[in-house]
Amino acid sequence: MSNIISGKELSAELRAKMTADIPGLEAKYGRVPHLVVILVGENPASQSYVRSKGKAAVAIGMKSTTILKPEDISEEELLSLIDELNNDDTVDGILVQLPLPKHISEDKVIDKISYEKDVDGFHPRNVASLWLGEDCIVPCTPKGCIEMIKSTGVSIKGKNAVVVGRSNIVGKPVAKLLLDENATVTIAHSRTADLASVCRGADILVAAVGRPEMIKGDMIKPGAIVIDVGINRVTNPDGTSKLVGDVDFASAEPVAGWISPVPGGVGPMTITMLMRNTIECFERRLSK
Ligand code: NDP
Repeated sequence: MSNIISGKELSAELRAKMTADIPGLEAKYGRVPHLVVILVGENPASQSYVRSKGKAAVAIGMKSTTILKPEDISEEELLSLIDELNNDDTVDGILVQLPLPKHISEDKVIDKISYEKDVDGFHPRNVASLWLGEDCIVPCTPKGCIEMIKSTGVSIKGKNAVVVGRSNIVGKPVAKLLLDENATVTIAHSRTADLASVCRGADILVAAVGRPEMIKGDMIKPGAIVIDVGINRVTNPDGTSKLVGDVDFASAEPVAGWISPVPGGVGPMTITMLMRNTIECFERRLSK
């Protein structure tokens, strides 16, 4: 039986602390942090993410604005909207919900957001700073993973960490953050030979693959910390659907020392870290 790392509970604690801090920030700077989220089109999953982000911001006492734009907005129009927000001193964080329609370049959009308001931590300047070890805005999901690992009280230093997945938004930054915590890090991917034995060497295993329940219990070192980033919607035999992670919870839970569930694991922590990044962007700019 492993210990459950509840992202939901950890998020509630961290959000309560942020809620308590907001009045002090307002007193110091004359206003509360302001997050602007832009949603292009009507993708239901994106709509639900955007709603959760807005609700979380308001619940902790921040200002939240959601800008809805039609699917056929031109790239130029979106870029000029971002420009306006970059120049608006009352806006602290700008998030453009991905994915964007095919006619809009995500790279151009991310590039356009001022690195000082880049609450997602995707701007090339923030990415470069992360890899150079400079102070920067760290992407929300990887930052949440590290908070979850730290919440176990187990030291990361000197541990073997395996990250399965090498995307720019999860796998690579999580690996860099584990390196910063002095873990010995292996990044596994679709061409990794004998993934099972690589995973079995992990004291800390982070799965960010996007393949439902791919990591089985026999791929996990007994006692390991397992962080499941995956969010996969699968269809039940009766036609209903449910969310599962990249880790097969049923077989992994008896082997792992600590494991995060899906849902209620990394998902809520990602939103919590977005709130933290918005506060960080606010304080950094206003304290200059
Ligand atoms: P990507 O599709 O960008 O990357 C997936 C990675 O997994 C790739 O590096 C790929 O390797 C690797 N991979 C694919 N198949 C295998 C395999 N059979 N064996 C080993 N590695 C494999 O996904 P993301 O990083 O964006 O997301 C990963 C998961 O995390 C998804 O389920 C996503 O929904 C979820 N997610 C959850 C978030 C949250 O808030 N909880 C936030 C962001 C993502 P290669 O590079 O070789 O192709």
